[in-house]
Amino acid sequence: MKNYIGGAFRDTTEHFDTLNPATSQPIDSVPRSGPDEVHQAAQAALQAAPDWAASSVEERACWLERVASAIEERIDELAQLESQDQGKPVWLARHVDIPRAVDNFRFFAGAVRQHHDGVHRMPGALNYTARAPIGVVGLITPWNLPLYLLTWKLAPALAMGNTVVAKPSELTPCTANALAEIFDAIGAPAGIFNLVHGYGGEVGQAILEHPDIRAISFTGGTATGRTVARTAAPLFKKLSLELGGKNATVVFDDCELEATLEGALRAGFANQGEICLCGSRLLLQRGIAEAFLPEFIRRATALKVGDPAAPDTRIGALNSQAHRDKVESYLRLAVDEGGTVHGGDRPQLPAPFQDGAFLAPAVVTGLSARCRTATEEIFGPVVTVHLFDTEEEAVAMANDTEYGLAASVWTSDLSRAHRVSEALQVGMVWVNTWLRRDLRVPFGGVKNSGVGREGGHHSLEFYSESKNICIKL
Ligand code: NAD
Repeated sequence: MKNYIGGAFRDTTEHFDTLNPATSQPIDSVPRSGPDEVHQAAQAALQAAPDWAASSVEERACWLERVASAIEERIDELAQLESQDQGKPVWLARHVDIPRAVDNFRFFAGAVRQHHDGVHRMPGALNYTARAPIGVVGLITPWNLPLYLLTWKLAPALAMGNTVVAKPSELTPCTANALAEIFDAIGAPAGIFNLVHGYGGEVGQAILEHPDIRAISFTGGTATGRTVARTAAPLFKKLSLELGGKNATVVFDDCELEATLEGALRAGFANQGEICLCGSRLLLQRGIAEAFLPEFIRRATALKVGDPAAPDTRIGALNSQAHRDKVESYLRLAVDEGGTVHGGDRPQLPAPFQDGAFLAPAVVTGLSARCRTATEEIFGPVVTVHLFDTEEEAVAMANDTEYGLAASVWTSDLSRAHRVSEALQVGMVWVNTWLRRDLRVPFGGVKNSGVGREGGHHSLEFYSESKNICIKL
């Protein structure tokens, strides 16, 4: 694997391995870049910026569509690569991650064609508001949805005429590298997409500090987000922060039992629980707990864990041994805090998975909703369960964390669905569903889950600057 800078693949002197977390075996050698490579990438992006910004919307949209088609042609290969690098089931990458990367490019090709500037008439004058590209933007992405999240930022950034310096997570660089190969293979203009591999504290930090990179879109943990904000704010860079979550799945007595069981299970354990939107706090109204909870535990602990390539695997490997250690430390903490852990063992798997970072799903009961296990982000296959009596209690419990990303509400009472949704301190609420995404709607969190919104015109506005021009008539 090499960096992709100015339309050419360039090596570095130092490298590190990226591992397949299902086998703990290396899959590729990754450039360990630093400030020099970031500087080269920023210069290449700066050089490409005027021509790309001057190209027509139609030209840029056509390039986005070419990228989409080229990803689509390699969909099976990319799904396998994502699974090997990240640990997720291949079917999940094949049906969600990679198609979504295709959709991101197609969607923003369409969105930018429809995007238009505003006009405000006034007596004796006319205002028009033009949107211009920012210039060079830095994209920093995490390991849980590697290609999906990189393309969610890259497509609108390019659509609005910016050029990009991107850094994927050092733990999952493979599909970003494949994307650079795709840009190269289709002959995309050199320097519009520059990819620099390496560690967060080295490459990520250099992107934050580089004076020619004028905006940063960051998705990752809340603690890292603080560093990003601290570094970028005094440089007055435009900043989008999509951070952690500890999301509630709020289940009322009057929910539709079967659909809610399946919805809560998916919300809790999709992608091994490694999605910022996962419903890791299950709030159950007391009247349904007896019917719901034993069945939820039975289904969660029966989810098949193992070979990510097997079509019936529901839970692949966690992203790394270190991450599994972190998740397991929370299971020990849960016991110390008085909880009972159902599941959560390391499964015994045959070769080549015997040393993989697998962990069976865990449901934790008997905890206070205030304890650390119930309020800190674990980001693994762990759901804590808490009982409530009234709607007010449910809302107070759901809001009682530092995070405010998303929630789901399960009820057949429409008025209650509206009331509770409006009272929840989050950026996104799903009612009787979870993670149903429309790319036009705002995506993002409140409180410590982030600042700003992505999606649809929110992304197009983030990746551009508006300028009002007032003409006296
Ligand atoms: P992380 O914060 O450890 O890393 C994210 C990225 O930041 C990586 O590319 C990393 O190399 C880089 N980085 C690390 N230190 C840096 C520094 N000092 N300067 C610049 N960059 C630096 O997060 P992670 O463990 O990769 O991902 C998991 C986290 O991401 C979870 O908290 C999850 O909730 C969050 N997440 C949020 C969303 C969202 O949309 N809100 C989506 C996915 C994941």
